[in-house]
Amino acid sequence: MKIEKLVRPSVRGLKAYEAKEIPCKVKLDANESPYGYDISRAKIATNRYPDPEARALRDAIAKTHGVTRESVLLGNGSDELISCLITTFGGPVLHPSPTFVMYANIAIALGEKDVPVALNSEFDLDETAMLAAIRRHKPKLVFLSTPNNPTGNCFDAGAVLRIIERAPGIVVVDEAYQPFAGDKGYCTFLADYPNLVVMRTLSKIGLAALRLGYMVASTQIIAEVNKVRLPYNVNSFSQAHALHALKKGTLMRKAIKTIATEREAMMAAMSAMEGIEVYPSEANFIMFRVADQAAMHAALLKRGVLIKNLGAMVKGCMRVTVGTPSENKAFIKALREALGNGK
Ligand code: PMP
Repeated sequence: MKIEKLVRPSVRGLKAYEAKEIPCKVKLDANESPYGYDISRAKIATNRYPDPEARALRDAIAKTHGVTRESVLLGNGSDELISCLITTFGGPVLHPSPTFVMYANIAIALGEKDVPVALNSEFDLDETAMLAAIRRHKPKLVFLSTPNNPTGNCFDAGAVLRIIERAPGIVVVDEAYQPFAGDKGYCTFLADYPNLVVMRTLSKIGLAALRLGYMVASTQIIAEVNKVRLPYNVNSFSQAHALHALKKGTLMRKAIKTIATEREAMMAAMSAMEGIEVYPSEANFIMFRVADQAAMHAALLKRGVLIKNLGAMVKGCMRVTVGTPSENKAFIKALREALGNGK
């Protein structure tokens, strides 16, 4: 029996999401936080299913955004919510390119039309092209990651708002990296735009192990997407630990601030080097261009530092996550040596 023949045609051509575990001393490839948190000591009844509605955690998250529990939906990572959104609304699914790969991967896997629209030369939205593509394809869903992964920049806010206004369907502003950015994000616009969904994750702020993402939107959107959410999608341990960690808001805010300060120091050091171009970032990572990305990746790995080679997605470019001050120092030293910039 040919298993391949049984697989949906839309899945046959896909590649599995690559999350390679390469042993190294300094791991700066996956946009994780270098700072974690104590776990909850709450007693968890392992024989019982989790709270299917995750009420306590949704209430805590709702409070931070000034909304009600009914405006919040949790996912096993925001990856799961992307899947739930596309399952609920279908395609076409439109997004800028390059951006986070899962918008396209999930759309294609579910057999929906995927419409990538190239960013401009500064990696900002090409507003004219975006609006033209929106008119032409009438997408059910538009995904905008701001700050964008892997480029690191925030999109022009005026362009984002005009896209939300003119899109005939749902616009998801993916704020996975918003905590590291200077602005306040798009939650404040939820009351103005009934088609807006704001998506967040705890993965970048020290809780990647929990797999916890969430979306904030109108109660009507949340109720529709909730229909396709799998029962008990957020396990009891993640619910308890996330609730426990969120109560340490001050500690989390301090870690986020440290990461943003470190990012600026890394940018300054990198910008002073010859042979690389560094792009502005408001995220917990920095994208930069070198002459030979594969050779640079290998040269850094030889020195014990793992970063992300963006390959064909952004030619010549690599992405380094901001780590602890000593990890960042190790990266800067390795980069300087690999570029042959002396010292
Ligand atoms: N959105 C963006 C823009 C991301 O970069 C990522 C993680 N790489 C995610 C969503 C998914 O995050 P998670 O599933 O860990 O919540």
